[in-house]
Amino acid sequence: MNAREHTPNQKIALVTGANKGIGRAAAGQLAALGMTVLIGARDPLRGEDAAAALRAAGGDAHAVTLDVTHPTTVQEAANQVEERFGQLDVLINNAGITGSGQVSPEDAHDQVPSTVDLNMVRAVFETNVFGVIAVTNAMLPLLRRSPAPRIVNVSSHGASLTLTSDPDGPFATLLPSAAYFPSKTALTALTVQYANELRKDGILVNAAAPGYVDTDSNNHTGFLTVAQGAAVLVRLATLGTDGPTGGFFSEDGSVPW
Ligand code: NAP
Repeated sequence: MNAREHTPNQKIALVTGANKGIGRAAAGQLAALGMTVLIGARDPLRGEDAAAALRAAGGDAHAVTLDVTHPTTVQEAANQVEERFGQLDVLINNAGITGSGQVSPEDAHDQVPSTVDLNMVRAVFETNVFGVIAVTNAMLPLLRRSPAPRIVNVSSHGASLTLTSDPDGPFATLLPSAAYFPSKTALTALTVQYANELRKDGILVNAAAPGYVDTDSNNHTGFLTVAQGAAVLVRLATLGTDGPTGGFFSEDGSVPW
């Protein structure tokens, strides 16, 4: 095993899809708290650019090549984290796609259930759901070496069946979606199941709804800054030992299932 690249007791956090958007902002906030931050990125150059920017701002950041849909890169990333850092304290499963390019999921005509392309639904679930299982399971042995492991799954208010099934609710005027929102509902369900399995081991697993954030994923139609969107991710990544597990939270509190 190589010499470890962090000082003892310094927490190690991996954020997937951290080369831009909410993930990058969360990585910056964790670095500002003194954590060593691993920038998961499927493109090594984009990852290194983001890590270099965080280092220039005084943070301890390192790029890790990781495509959540490619099992080889997921396992190689886990091997690299083990060799370089020995453990993981925080995993933020942030990488996600809408499936509709740079169109807000609310306006994506190609996600309407009766006419959706099943291959697009499969691709969205591959990243937003199956990718989270792949990354979480690869990183769990490293998280188990932490005294206070935290897993945060980045979901969406659109995952909430309570909100989306209300004909008078906030989603009533939006186009129905067979891909992005159901993938996030599956992710919150998965969050509960992981929390149930890992509760006895002291691993806290929660889902986060960042709100409507100005990023590439919605062609910059969101009204929150990436810093505002990242705040709930960081709060759940830094919960104390008495913190919740198996919950679904925004910065305003619990989100209904
Ligand atoms: P974004 O700016 O498009 O960032 C998405 C990130 O995920 C990028 O770094 C992207 O990498 C990465 N990614 C996509 N597929 C990947 C894969 N297979 N492997 C590894 N990384 C991958 O979007 P964002 O708005 O910040 O979204 C971050 C998370 O927040 C997503 O899970 C999204 O669903 C969720 N969210 C966003 C909003 C919002 O209003 N923006 C609201 C609710 C939830 P590339 O640069 O290589 O494409």
